[in-house]
Amino acid sequence: MKRKMENEFWTLLFQPQIFKRGYAYYRENRVIAFNEQENEIQSIVDGSHPYLIKIHLKNNFPEACYCSCPYAESGKPCKHLVAVLLYWEHFAENNKIADEILSQASDNQTRFFLHKLLFNNPMLQEIFQDFLDDKLLM
Ligand SMILES: [Zn+2]
Repeated sequence: MKRKMENEFWTLLFQPQIFKRGYAYYRENRVIAFNEQENEIQSIVDGSHPYLIKIHLKNNFPEACYCSCPYAESGKPCKHLVAVLLYWEHFAENNKIADEILSQASDNQTRFFLHKLLFNNPMLQEIFQDFLDDKLLM
């Protein structure tokens, strides 16, 4: 995957402060849903509210971006877009790591671990319920 090196210059679209905050959002796992189809990314980032992000890609570069947050409404690129673009850049690599770890686990171990994660975590419970109800793009 050369995507990362090829696209590093997208970071220049953002004010340094916004990029820093978006990076923190990415690290804090605030990208709670992500779907890439054809040249379109749809995502949900959990900020002060869950925000919907749409990114249109052209030649593997973000061409048009949308976020439902108030900051982006004024036409400025926001931290939620940064978080989604970082998620997108690391997607293949992280997918591979997750697949490798999961391939070592039995179904029982997977259920046990998921139970531990869901226990006492209302946000994850809600996300998982949405996933089961097919309301979440993943
Ligand atoms: Zn936003």
